[in-house]
Amino acid sequence: MVLSSVLGFPRIGANREVKKAVEAYWGGKLSADELTKAAADVKKASWTSLKERGVNLIPSGDFTLYDHILDHSAAFNVIPKRYLGKGLSPLDVYFAMGRGRQADGVDVPASEMKKWFDSNYHFVVPEFSEETEFKLNFNKALEEYREAKDLGIETRPVVVGPITFLALGKNAKEASAGFQPISLLPKLIPIYKQLLAALKDAGAESVQIDEPFLVLDQAALYEKQYASAYAELAPVSPKLIIASYYGRLDSNVTFVAKLPVAGLHIDLDRAPGQLEEVIAAVKPTNLILSLGVVSGRNIWKTDFQAAIKLGQKAIDALGQDRVIIASSSSLLHTPVTLAAENKLTPEQKDWFSFALEKASEIAVIAASLSGSQDAKVAEAVEANRVSIAKRREFERNSDASVRSRVAAITPDQFERKSPFSVRKEIQQKQLQLPKFPTTTIGSFPQTKEIRQARAKLNKKEITVAEYEKFIEKEIENVVRFQERIGLDLLVHGEPERNDMVQYFGEQFEGFVFTQNGWVQSYGSRYVRPPIIVSDVSRPKPITVRWSSYAQSLTSKPMKGMLTGPVTILNWSFPRADVSRELQCKQLALALRDEVIDLEKAGIKAVQVDEPALREGLPLRKADWQAYLDWALPSFKLATAGVTDALQTHSHFCYSDFDDIFPSIQALDADVISIEASKSDLKLLNTFKHYGYSNQIGPGVYDIHSPRVPSEEEIKERIAAMLGTLPADLLVINPDCGLKTRGWSETEASLVNLVNAARWARQTY
Ligand code: GLN
Ligand code: ZN
Repeated sequence: MVLSSVLGFPRIGANREVKKAVEAYWGGKLSADELTKAAADVKKASWTSLKERGVNLIPSGDFTLYDHILDHSAAFNVIPKRYLGKGLSPLDVYFAMGRGRQADGVDVPASEMKKWFDSNYHFVVPEFSEETEFKLNFNKALEEYREAKDLGIETRPVVVGPITFLALGKNAKEASAGFQPISLLPKLIPIYKQLLAALKDAGAESVQIDEPFLVLDQAALYEKQYASAYAELAPVSPKLIIASYYGRLDSNVTFVAKLPVAGLHIDLDRAPGQLEEVIAAVKPTNLILSLGVVSGRNIWKTDFQAAIKLGQKAIDALGQDRVIIASSSSLLHTPVTLAAENKLTPEQKDWFSFALEKASEIAVIAASLSGSQDAKVAEAVEANRVSIAKRREFERNSDASVRSRVAAITPDQFERKSPFSVRKEIQQKQLQLPKFPTTTIGSFPQTKEIRQARAKLNKKEITVAEYEKFIEKEIENVVRFQERIGLDLLVHGEPERNDMVQYFGEQFEGFVFTQNGWVQSYGSRYVRPPIIVSDVSRPKPITVRWSSYAQSLTSKPMKGMLTGPVTILNWSFPRADVSRELQCKQLALALRDEVIDLEKAGIKAVQVDEPALREGLPLRKADWQAYLDWALPSFKLATAGVTDALQTHSHFCYSDFDDIFPSIQALDADVISIEASKSDLKLLNTFKHYGYSNQIGPGVYDIHSPRVPSEEEIKERIAAMLGTLPADLLVINPDCGLKTRGWSETEASLVNLVNAARWARQTY
């Protein structure tokens, strides 16, 4: 029989219960016990519904209150010293690592966060040094396994693999220069043995051990470590299924297939082409092959026929008992269920599958491949055939004007008229900004009042006119605030936006939206990605009204604010029927019109955010160029339609630019701002090294935490930056937008920022 398996489930709850509980705990409105109880309810609901849907191998241990890598660090005692000895409970140490803490005399910043592979999820980066002493503070996998068992549900525990854990980490401050986290492997293995042996004792038959690192080029360097680690772990463990996901194993399969484990999971959503090579590699072994045929990354209904074909291929080679049908990765990147969506049309609803629906798909595909005679299975297969055919029919309706506009793009549309050096002079005449100009990244606190006004508008409790009056008032407050504290290049604060991607999607043709399609971005931050379903265009101007209103209130320059084409694409669920390149170019043309319209309306600076540009890079270096070849031109297409006088800005969240520096330069934005405060300034060395020529604002403080940076701290940052960057290129801004922050910390932080900039003007 072919078993079905889900690699991981959304941890947020069908109604965002985890966010609500965690934030209530942070706010002192919920006790630790109540938080545990809320979490238990969500886990129970997930396990129960997976069981009801007929999934054989149900995951446990994948739940988290904040981030599963952070859980793993805390469990293994990988806790930076700065969080210890402050009288915090283990739970509060945990949250302090995730989000920083500034209360009751404790003042520690959050740990660094990084994008999880090529997804929009962020993990908390573990910090290692020679002094790291692993010990098992708690065995999360065991606790959750038992928790499910007590409910009468047998699960397959999920554990982060040792190599992935070390390889994703970074050097702690106290680590010596040449230290490499992977050198800790011999010290780490005994702890894993302890963890896995306890699972075996508790009766777990198999364990899913996550090694997504295996889909990266660098994994090849760790062949020896993989071999030695698993040789030690396998004998004391339940059956180990090594899970690779988000990409292809490539040549790594040669050593992975030799590991002394029970099975291997591969991602056939991202890399269906690898199936034959992997089958060939595992055929001579006893390995079970788990086939990730149902996407953990998108929301499209699985084409059963295609999935069954892949499954059959593996069965023909290995036999039914050596094949598992699975989600390609954890389903954490998909919303919980389609059942809660009442605003999608029945036609649209029929295109999609969210996590729970995917669980059913997996069960049905596995049953069908097992030769099930159950009429329900045959019915589900037939219903799927009909749905897929209908979607294909819909896909044939393309928008001829959009398609022909993309086909007619000419090379000159990608380039500004003059080089940066010329533009800079012209722009300075218009903008009249001081040395070390100060600005922000766009959003100001999205207060409860703003969210309530939007909710009222959606429920038609207020009219559009009333809502717009309210937004104008918000804009006015933000403008007055910025004038009062002395910022130089102002923003309107983005109060009209629910989200930087969703907002634009809602104004474009070609998108649909969910009501409850939340997915976790980091910690308690969830996003509701729009879905691109057909050709994209802009029926009418979007932000011009707000930006010109904001400009009309002040004599200081106002920066228009847009989200870039690559980011809109990467943070949406894209279509699966046409290339991402085509979707991105369509978005770029729509945004190009918006930038041109902003300039026509008298706006002198426009920021086009591309925080997702870097994270969209394929995981394998061999695939990078093909991506950059359409991603970079898309940004340029969006921003180059204006005169030299318009100052273009772009913003990137935390990014390692080392290896794509020439691409950032090639964007030719007049000013870029980047998240830098948590990166020990090493980022700036890259910019210095390559001689970045345009203006740049490395964030001077971290906005992901409520902590207020002191003026002194910001001065130090600026001084350090000036050790690397030329003074005439430096712009002073926070790391990112302020929408998640409260007003009091925003005001305190920005006052310190402005004062530090004033100091810099006098000092340098
Ligand atoms: N302009 C956006 C904001 O300030 C940028 C957010 C981002 O980079 N993620 O909110
Ligand atoms: Zn950002």
